[in-house]
Amino acid sequence: MSSRRELFLEEIGLTPLWRLKGTHAEERGVPEAGVQPATPPGSARTATGAGARAEGIARMDWTGLKAAVAACTACGLRKTCKQTVFGVGDERADWLLVGEAPGAEEDARGEPFVGQAGKLLDAMLAGIGLKRGEDVYIANVLKCRPPGNRNPEAAEVDQCAPFLLRQVALLQPRLIIAMGRFACQALLDTDASIASLRGRIHRFQGVPLIVSYHPAYLLRSLPDKAKAWEDLCFARRTMADLRRQTLSTATP
Ligand code: URA
Repeated sequence: MSSRRELFLEEIGLTPLWRLKGTHAEERGVPEAGVQPATPPGSARTATGAGARAEGIARMDWTGLKAAVAACTACGLRKTCKQTVFGVGDERADWLLVGEAPGAEEDARGEPFVGQAGKLLDAMLAGIGLKRGEDVYIANVLKCRPPGNRNPEAAEVDQCAPFLLRQVALLQPRLIIAMGRFACQALLDTDASIASLRGRIHRFQGVPLIVSYHPAYLLRSLPDKAKAWEDLCFARRTMADLRRQTLSTATP
């Protein structure tokens, strides 16, 4: 392990657990999960009346999409939040990380994951050689902060889902990491636990997707920090495989 990585691991409190366990996914052969149906986020709950709106959003370019998110009043959250939080990063990124919803700091600054959870996320990304904005895009399921950071409601997820769906389509990432229960529910349309979804490759709209814990949860749960580190290592290995596959299909 390089000293830079070691430094990051120490900083986020992972090093001792990481060394003790020694069973991270990077060292295991991890099977690909059965290919998931390519359902749009929240589609099972989407009312048919929302179809025209979703179709409109599905045709937007980045500029139109940003404007549509900024102007959205489809659910009540826009009334209580300070501003919408669209997403941040490299619009040609291979990596897409999806969280839940903006918190107080994100609401104030208009950028996802800039509070304590964001600091942890940045440190974990740095641990696998990634940096916010450089080949990485970060978005949330909800673009508006729920009051008091309460959990997103199903109707809010349904209204906001077409925006995330379009972000994925425009970005065409090589790999998505869904962080936490709400990102998994929205992207995989499942109520299964994070624990049962980890360590396998799922698919969202054909894009490989890996599940991990939400950084805010990790701030409260040290043992699961080590598991999240396993997930990141698994993701890094998966990305390397995906890039190798692209190379081998591109060369005759
Ligand atoms: N938690 C999230 O899910 N997203 C953010 O942007 C910040 C905290």
